[in-house]
Amino acid sequence: MLTVYHVGMNSYADVLRSFGGKLHVSSPLKRYVTRVVAKLPEEIRTHITSDCWFLGSREDAWAYTFTGDELAGKHLIILSDELSRQSDTDIEWTIMHEIGHVILGHRNSILVTQSRKEIARQEKEADAFARTYV
Ligand SMILES: [Zn+2]
Repeated sequence: MLTVYHVGMNSYADVLRSFGGKLHVSSPLKRYVTRVVAKLPEEIRTHITSDCWFLGSREDAWAYTFTGDELAGKHLIILSDELSRQSDTDIEWTIMHEIGHVILGHRNSILVTQSRKEIARQEKEADAFARTYV
């Protein structure tokens, strides 16, 4: 059966272009992030491509530094290289789940101590977001 996606053929290129330099991940993961973000409604897509950095191990860089100005009002999503060894479905799910945390305004646990209950609730909400869009 033919699957028809509601994203145009140019969406991937558009998404890549919109990210500009904010996609610091390996080429395979770049394709997954682009594919996942292209599935999102335009409003969410625009928010993610303008306010979200994706970081991973990239072939052409051993390390990167970001300064406060670049990160003000932005979000970082860190993708491990290990992720690219998972199945297509798992990779897309993980990326969409992390985008869910951003969209749902969840706090991260590096600077804020969260209760187990709050973490569990946020994980459920991010899963529900991923289920909606993957
Ligand atoms: Zn999570």
